[in-house]
Amino acid sequence: MVRGEQPGALGSLRESNREKVVHALQMLGVASRADVARWTGLSRSTVSSIVAELHADGVVVDREEGGREAAGSGRPPALIALDPSAGFALGIDFGKRHLAVALADLSHEVLAERRVEMTDDYEAGEGMATAAGLVDRLVGETGAERTRVIGVGMGIPGPVHQAGTVGSSAILPGWAGTTPRERMEELLELPVRVGNDANLGALAEYTWGAGRGSCSVVYLKLATGIGAGIVIDGALFEGAGGTAGEIGHTTIDETGDICRCGNRGCLETYAGAAAIASLLSRSFGEELDPEQVVSRAAEGDPGCRRALADAGRHIGVAVANLCNLVNPERIVVGGSMGLAGDLLLDPLRESVRLRAIPSAAEDVEIVPGGLGERAELLGAVALVLQEASLAPGARTPAMQSTTTEP
Ligand SMILES: [Zn+2]
Repeated sequence: MVRGEQPGALGSLRESNREKVVHALQMLGVASRADVARWTGLSRSTVSSIVAELHADGVVVDREEGGREAAGSGRPPALIALDPSAGFALGIDFGKRHLAVALADLSHEVLAERRVEMTDDYEAGEGMATAAGLVDRLVGETGAERTRVIGVGMGIPGPVHQAGTVGSSAILPGWAGTTPRERMEELLELPVRVGNDANLGALAEYTWGAGRGSCSVVYLKLATGIGAGIVIDGALFEGAGGTAGEIGHTTIDETGDICRCGNRGCLETYAGAAAIASLLSRSFGEELDPEQVVSRAAEGDPGCRRALADAGRHIGVAVANLCNLVNPERIVVGGSMGLAGDLLLDPLRESVRLRAIPSAAEDVEIVPGGLGERAELLGAVALVLQEASLAPGARTPAMQSTTTEP
């Protein structure tokens, strides 16, 4: 990604370049100066001199590969990150039967995580009260100062409209119509951002997982429903009203079955959990959930293997269209059905190869997710790390230097 160097007065140019470098580290976590130069579009020498300045101001620290602080090894440290003590980010993931919280510092290091099992379809109020208790414990245990928490990301498994209202969802029906952000802000007395599960999965895989290093990443969440999170040029793309990525409602057959959205022949009517369960109901005499289908397929059950292969093929039709429109570098497949691995991914890849424009098909790599069930939780943390304005300690201080662009 290239963000060009803006013309303007030398002082404000320097300050804006400094902000670009801080923002790049906010997005990248631990990075080399070359990574920052690529990200910002600034020259290597400009980045080096700004980093030296940020280093002197205590905004940036040296890091070894793997994220630990550099020891005095004698070699010049090649990697840098924002000073971890400048702030912390919290993430909360509300699942159908679980709740998880995580705390990370500004260098993207996850310091602690907690997960608790919940009763099926728990109420929004109960979930948020439990989450607030877990957050208090996590902050206490890690010794993180609460005043240094820059924000809280909150993952909800369902559509979240830009006004913050949760849309109707089969996953947590009791949450539809609620505005959990406001309630959570009251409980925690911290700024809260809300994201849906597929968008958060995309941010997490882009930041820490199988999408790291690519500029344009699509995360496919294959679970009860089918959703996508789209990261373009390093930023989450949510569309005009937050609906972008509803790939499960892409038309596969315009004369097909009526979908729960009212349209006909949506991808979900072919490859969603309910469609697969009904496909297998004759041979099993019961409705299998996605986890059961995947585990039986892994044990060699031919019907489950066939159902997953067909699902992969159908998903590939929608993904091929997506590749033609967005031309992503990587598609990361997660969710409970994504755990089927190549049983599902190989037919999906073949379907994309057959249907997408050859250049778009060649550009894209389709890989399994790297974060598993932690994807949404870590995505909630990433939402804060990438969007929040930094704590005063890491804010660009007043301009002192007037060094010009080389
Ligand atoms: Zn639909």
